[in-house]
Amino acid sequence: APAQFEWAWQHPFTSRRLTDVTPRRPRERPIAFALRLLPRLLRAPPWCRLPLRLRWLRPSPPPPLDPVPPRHVVVESGQLPARRPRPRRRMRRRSSAGATAPEGDTPPAALCELCAEPCQASPPLRCPRPGCLLTAHPLCLARVFLRSEPRELLPMHGACPRCHAHLLWGDLIHHHLSDHTPSAEEEVEPDEHIQVSPAPI
Ligand SMILES: [Zn+2]
Ligand SMILES: [Zn+2]
Repeated sequence: APAQFEWAWQHPFTSRRLTDVTPRRPRERPIAFALRLLPRLLRAPPWCRLPLRLRWLRPSPPPPLDPVPPRHVVVESGQLPARRPRPRRRMRRRSSAGATAPEGDTPPAALCELCAEPCQASPPLRCPRPGCLLTAHPLCLARVFLRSEPRELLPMHGACPRCHAHLLWGDLIHHHLSDHTPSAEEEVEPDEHIQVSPAPI
C-alpha cells in the first residue's frame, strides 16, 4: 500500500484514485501542492480504510491539513524511535502463573468474550488498555466493529465491548502481532507508515 500511495501522490493526474484535484496553480510551490494532495489521498479508497500512520519528520509543528485526515489515521511527528530488539516472549507466560496448569501441559485456551467459544485456532485479540481483560476471536471483534458499516470488510475502529474504550483496529492488530510474534514488528511496521519527506515531487 505505501508504494501505491507514493505513486499516486507523485502522479495525481494519472492515478484514478483522485478525482477532485485541481492542477498545480502557477505560483503554487511543489511542497504546497503536495500538502494539498496528501489529505485528499488519505480520504480516497483504498487508503481511506487502511490503518495508516502519518509521520511528519519535519518541520515541527506539522502544517495543517485541509481536509483533516480521517479519524483512524494516526498522525505523529518526529523521527521514528530507534528499534530495540524485542525480548522473546513466551506465549504461555500469561497462564503459566496460574497454579492449575501442571508443568508441560498446554494451558486451556482463553474463552472469547463475544461468542463464549475457546480461542483455539489462534491467540485471541486482547484490549490494549491496561486493566481491561477482553479476549475475543479476531473475527468476532471485527463483526462488532463492523456493525455500523456492514458492507465493509476491514474494520477501522470501534468500542471495546468490555471497557468501552475507543480502539483503532490497526492498533489492536499491531498490539496482537507484537505480543505473539516477536519478529513480526520488523515486517509490519514499515508497511504501516507513510513517511512525509520534504519534497515528494
Ligand atoms: Zn468469538
Ligand atoms: Zn477494553
